[in-house]
Amino acid sequence: MIHANYHSHLVYCKHAAGHAEDYIQVALKHNFKELGISDHAPLLPCFMSVSEFERFGRKYNTMTLDTALTKYLPEVEAAKEKYKNQIKILSAFEIEYFSTSEFFARYLRKKVDYLNLGVHLFEYKDQLLSSYSQVNHKTILSYLDACIKGMKTGLFNTLVHPDLFMFGYTDKNKEHTFDEQCAYVSKKIIETAIECDVYLELNANGIYNSRFASEWLYPCREFWQIASQYPNLKIIIGADAHTPDALVCDYIRQAEEFAKELGLKIQDTMEVKH
Ligand SMILES: [Zn+2]
Ligand SMILES: [Zn+2]
Repeated sequence: MIHANYHSHLVYCKHAAGHAEDYIQVALKHNFKELGISDHAPLLPCFMSVSEFERFGRKYNTMTLDTALTKYLPEVEAAKEKYKNQIKILSAFEIEYFSTSEFFARYLRKKVDYLNLGVHLFEYKDQLLSSYSQVNHKTILSYLDACIKGMKTGLFNTLVHPDLFMFGYTDKNKEHTFDEQCAYVSKKIIETAIECDVYLELNANGIYNSRFASEWLYPCREFWQIASQYPNLKIIIGADAHTPDALVCDYIRQAEEFAKELGLKIQDTMEVKH
């Protein structure tokens, strides 16, 4: 079992449970060396239309900037200090990349130990689309663009769930297949991660999120098979914990077994590089 995790969410995003203290108790019980607390950064209405905010802001994340600055960050900082002799706690955000909001990511980066890049939404023409339900043969290159441009900013330590595009990808025939275009996108993401020295995350929560499908939607086997051909790629397993007990659960064990089966080299701990 892994003894570090860099992808954990608190109550503040309003779709997760638990405070820093609750996560730390689980981490200590299981002899974790490091714990990164990386709740979803505020999704600000100024970076999208009113209808997009209604659709995505409410669905994915309702932490306000006020809450981030006056509740979330002070809580993580206090926990860091309180437990400094027992475990290394790192503060972080998981944040989107939009071309219009790069300065905001830069602003938040200064307030935390690292940033996770999570592309749940991406710009396509003049609108924002969902990486879960709106990636298809026409839009997939825009998903790729968000991943590449994000990594190239140098602001992000890890691209979490890089294979999220396979959650709902459909090809020209409206079928859910991993086609040549998906292979191209996978290679580009992996090669950019190596070039920019960004970790890619094998996301254990994707196994939970695939529970209604006949196979894992993500982690996507084909994506990670391609990744296994790149020995220089840095891979980390992320719990993407939305409850404290998800730090140590069967999905992590399954992710570890999957990595072993594919011959993926998993890093024990993550070095903060960006
Ligand atoms: Zn979440
Ligand atoms: Zn995410």
